[in-house]
Amino acid sequence: MVADTESWVKRTGRVVLFPVVLGAAMAGAIVGLQRGVDPLLLSAVTVVPVALIVAIGEFWLPFRRSWAKSRGDVPTDIAHALFSNAIAGEVIKTVLLVALVPAAAWLAASVDFRAWPNRWPLALQLMLALVVAELGAYWAHRIAHEYGDTALWRAHATHHSPRRLYWLNAGRDHPFGVVLLLVPEIGPLILMGAGEPVLVAFLIFTGVHGLFQHCNIDVRLGPLNWVFSMAELHRWHHSVDVDQANHNYGANLCLWDVVFGTRYLPKEANPAEAQAPRDVGIEYLPNFPEGYLRQLTVPFRARWRGLKAEGRLIRERNAREENPDFTRAGRRLADSEERNAPPLGLVGSRAS
Ligand SMILES: [Zn+2]
Ligand SMILES: [Zn+2]
Repeated sequence: MVADTESWVKRTGRVVLFPVVLGAAMAGAIVGLQRGVDPLLLSAVTVVPVALIVAIGEFWLPFRRSWAKSRGDVPTDIAHALFSNAIAGEVIKTVLLVALVPAAAWLAASVDFRAWPNRWPLALQLMLALVVAELGAYWAHRIAHEYGDTALWRAHATHHSPRRLYWLNAGRDHPFGVVLLLVPEIGPLILMGAGEPVLVAFLIFTGVHGLFQHCNIDVRLGPLNWVFSMAELHRWHHSVDVDQANHNYGANLCLWDVVFGTRYLPKEANPAEAQAPRDVGIEYLPNFPEGYLRQLTVPFRARWRGLKAEGRLIRERNAREENPDFTRAGRRLADSEERNAPPLGLVGSRAS
């Protein structure tokens, strides 16, 4: 009887945890914004409790038990959350506001370009902001993945470096990677004249959604997987298999993945398919640095080339250990695999 009750509670928890917490957080944020609560305070009192709920949820409903174990990555992820996201993100937002608000005012004054419906209810403005922001972010993200070893991919690679997914991964990103996605997200909103309340609501939504998107909770969204780009979709984006990883680029919504044909959730078509990829990370860079400061150097070309060369040696050594008959032909195969992999960002068998 107890076991039945527990399984019923857990079954329900898997389905309702995300929509209930997101709904409650955004309802509170919208009410707070309408009453003039300070945006920074509002962000803190919204996102911090959600982070706690998600962290507890990972113990209650773990998706993959091996992902619950720290791999020495927690200090690095905390540093990313504090510096790459909180500080660098704030600087970028400030620069964007300083640069684009006058441009938006000029557009509004000179060509009567008042695109943003600031009089709409805030909840409706938020929905519109999500749709608009996701379009720019979708293409920036997709281009970073699908056009080889460009500066965009090197900036974004840090986000794909962890070998497990849990709630703190949401903040793992190089400051250049934060710029890569934040500029096309909120730049168009500012240029269109979106007011501060909807910008703050959008950023709170992104923060809450991001925590769930990377969580190690066995969430089951069912039809909501056609709305949100949540954990069940995003785990495939982090796959070590590049063919799997080059999908599900949405940060919050899967709308543009649906429109442009990159939405991927194999178990929908066949329930016997896996729930998630066998492994996550960047397979051709097994030596990706673990420390925060060393990760900051990764996007620079010389450092990147060095990492790739080291990675090739490590993979050759591993292949030799696994197969004493590893031959010149095997080395040629390893080389060709590497050549084929970078064009798609993550290599061989991986994800984003
Ligand atoms: Zn991610
Ligand atoms: Zn990615």
